[in-house]
Amino acid sequence: MTEAPILRVDALTRRFRGLVAINDLSFSVRAGSITSVIGPNGAGKSTLFNLITGYLRPSAGDVFFHEKRITGMSTDRIAAGGVARAFQIARPFRDLTVEENIRIGALFGKHGPRDVPATVSRALRLTGLQALQDEHTSALTVGQLRQLEVARAVATRADMLLADEPCAGLNPAETAHMIDVLRQVRDGGVTVLLVEHDMPAVMRVSDRIVVLDAGNKIAEGSPDEIATNPRVIAAYLGTPDPMT
Ligand code: ADP
Ligand code: MG
Repeated sequence: MTEAPILRVDALTRRFRGLVAINDLSFSVRAGSITSVIGPNGAGKSTLFNLITGYLRPSAGDVFFHEKRITGMSTDRIAAGGVARAFQIARPFRDLTVEENIRIGALFGKHGPRDVPATVSRALRLTGLQALQDEHTSALTVGQLRQLEVARAVATRADMLLADEPCAGLNPAETAHMIDVLRQVRDGGVTVLLVEHDMPAVMRVSDRIVVLDAGNKIAEGSPDEIATNPRVIAAYLGTPDPMT
């Protein structure tokens, strides 16, 4: 018997007036995986994240988390259920230290005030921020601030982390480090759903990839399968779709 997916998107559609941003999209995310959603600009990636986290309501279709229907629930309820989003949450509190920022994530997370020290040290460990825990966030680099956003999401005790372009604007060394952080987060038991433009990074870190183009799923598979898929190559190079 195969394990139930942690997240299941079922025939999801979202229209904006005449535009179909997400079109009859279905896919599943396996617990413990890093699953990436890729696609050209305007493919519908951010809309998908907004639908999963409750910032947008679908025009049709459903989202299931742990096989429980979360479609149309408030952002707060979805977050409290264990879905965290990094990089869209509020900026860090500049006057506070790294550890204090993470503690706030823990206090407002699923476990509430219980287990705060253990939750904070786990988040510091998984994101490699222990050495910086007493730094004020105003002293951090862009790459370290991104790590802090992941750490705050992890500190909420979420089961699934949605990361929208965590490597955007990072240099190659910072990108490589972020990839390591995402792997450690996954290995620490948090499923990762990733949107990222840096293709080499996506290919290195993903267990599975879903490819969107103009709201449609055009491919799904392992990094090797995706890298050699003619429809994917055509979508990225902007050449006519060879399959139609
Ligand atoms: P991506 O993140 O893949 O670049 P988006 O999900 O942001 O794509 O956008 C998908 C499509 O939906 C685009 O054509 C975009 O212009 C449109 N869109 C996104 N959000 C809105 C909105 N709130 N109102 C109208 N159109 C939107
Ligand atoms: Mg986007």
